[in-house]
Amino acid sequence: MLKRTLRGAIHGWSVIALTWLISAPMASFAAQPIDSVRLHRAPDHTRIVFDLGAPLEHKLNKLANPDRIVIDLIDADLKFDVSKLDFASSPITNIRVGKHDGNRTRVVFDLKETVRPRTNLLKPIEPFGWRLVLDLFDNQQKSVKSVEPAPHSGSVSPGARPMVVAIDAGHGGEDPGARGPSGVYEKNVVLAISKKLYELMKKEPGIKPVLVRDSDYYVPLAERRKIASERHSADVFISIHADAFTDRNAHGASVFALSNRGATSAQARYLAKIANDSDRIAGVYEEEKDSNGLLSVLAEMTMSGSMTHSLILGRQVIEEMGGVTKLHGNRRKVEQAGFAVLKEPRMVSILVETGFISNREEEKNLNSYRHQEKLARAILNGVNKYFETHPQPGSWYAARRNGSANGEAVAGGPSGGSHRIQSGDTLSSIARRYSVTEVDLRRSNGLSTDMIQVGQVLRIPGS
Ligand SMILES: [Zn+2]
Repeated sequence: MLKRTLRGAIHGWSVIALTWLISAPMASFAAQPIDSVRLHRAPDHTRIVFDLGAPLEHKLNKLANPDRIVIDLIDADLKFDVSKLDFASSPITNIRVGKHDGNRTRVVFDLKETVRPRTNLLKPIEPFGWRLVLDLFDNQQKSVKSVEPAPHSGSVSPGARPMVVAIDAGHGGEDPGARGPSGVYEKNVVLAISKKLYELMKKEPGIKPVLVRDSDYYVPLAERRKIASERHSADVFISIHADAFTDRNAHGASVFALSNRGATSAQARYLAKIANDSDRIAGVYEEEKDSNGLLSVLAEMTMSGSMTHSLILGRQVIEEMGGVTKLHGNRRKVEQAGFAVLKEPRMVSILVETGFISNREEEKNLNSYRHQEKLARAILNGVNKYFETHPQPGSWYAARRNGSANGEAVAGGPSGGSHRIQSGDTLSSIARRYSVTEVDLRRSNGLSTDMIQVGQVLRIPGS
C-alpha cells in the first residue's frame, strides 16, 4: 500500500527531476575522484594503474617531437600525487597533470624514447574495484635484446648438458597474491625464496637455473610456461607460492602437480582456483588469456611421462621440505589440481606452497631470511635427488652416473664403496649422494679440510 503511493508520487515528480539533471553542471554528480595510482615496471613495459570507483571514459594520444603519451580521463578528478610514482627505471622522464574543459583530467607522460601505448579497463575483482590500466610498451628492438636467453656456460663438457630449471615466483606487480595478517605480501616472499633458490642452483654444476620473473611485475600464466619452455627450453618448472586460508590456524607446506582427474582434495581445488585467478587480478589482454585446453595437455603429459615425473619430483621435494618446515596435514603426499601454470607437457612441473601466509607464525617465518634460505635449500635438495635418481640421457647427472657404472665409483652400491672425484663434486654433494655425513666422510678418508681434487678416490663409509 505504502509502496504504491510512493511510486505514484515519484512518477508525478519525474519530469521536473529530469529537467534539473540536464541543466545542472556535470561536475555536481559525474566527476569521480581517483585516489590511487600504481606503477609497475616489467622488463618490456611500464604499467600504470588508476583505481576507479566506476567505469571511466578516456582518450589516449601518442605525440612525437618530443615523445609523449597523453591520456584524458573524462569526468574524473585525479586526487593522487603522481610525482610519488617511481618511474626511474622506465622510459618516462616526467608526469604532468592538468585540468581541461571542466571535468577532463589530462595526464601527460614525457618520454625519453618512443613507446607503444595500450589501455585496458578492468572489471572489479578482489581486492580491487574498477581499474584503468595504461601500458607503455618499450621500443621493441631494444626489449627483445634484453630477454634473449643467456648462452650456456662454457665450462660444461659436451654430452653433459646441465638440466634447465625454471623458477617461477608466483604473482607479482598488480597481483599481490595472498596477504598475511600483518601485511606481508605473498608476491614479495615468493620472489625472495625464488631468488635464493636461483643463487643456490647457480652453484650446482649440473643445473642451469632461470628466473621467470626477477622483480615486482606480473607475467600472465600462459606466458610463464612459454618463457620457461620456449625461451629457455626448461626441463623442470617450479612455481613458488604461499597459501592463504580463511582459517588462520591452517599451516604447513605442500607440493602440487597437475591433476588428470579433478582435484585430490577440496583444499587443492580451492588453491588452484585462487592461483588461476591471477590473470584476472593482474589484468591481461584478450590474446594473453590462457587458451591451452586442459584435457589435451593432460593427455600429452601422460603420454610423455612428464606427469609421472612431476609426481616423483614433487615427492622428493616434499620429503626434503618436511625436514625444515611443518607439512600441511602432516602428509608427505603430492596433491593434484588444475593449476593453469603447470599445463605444459614438455616440462616436469610442480607448484610449491611454502606455507600459509595467513597463519601468523608462518607469515613471520616466510618473511625471515633464514627460513627462506632453508626452504630454498630443501627445494634444491629435492630437485637434486630427482636428477640423481632419474638422470636424463645426455645430462651432467647421466654422465656422472655412467662414470660410476664404469668403475670410477666402485662396488658396494650407495654406501660402503668408493668414489672417484669428478669435476663439480664437493664434499657435501658426495655426502648427500651416498647418504653419509660430511664428518664421517672426512674421518674415513683422513681429511682435515673440505679440499678435494678431481681424480682423487674417496672411501665411502658403510652405513
Ligand atoms: Zn599464490
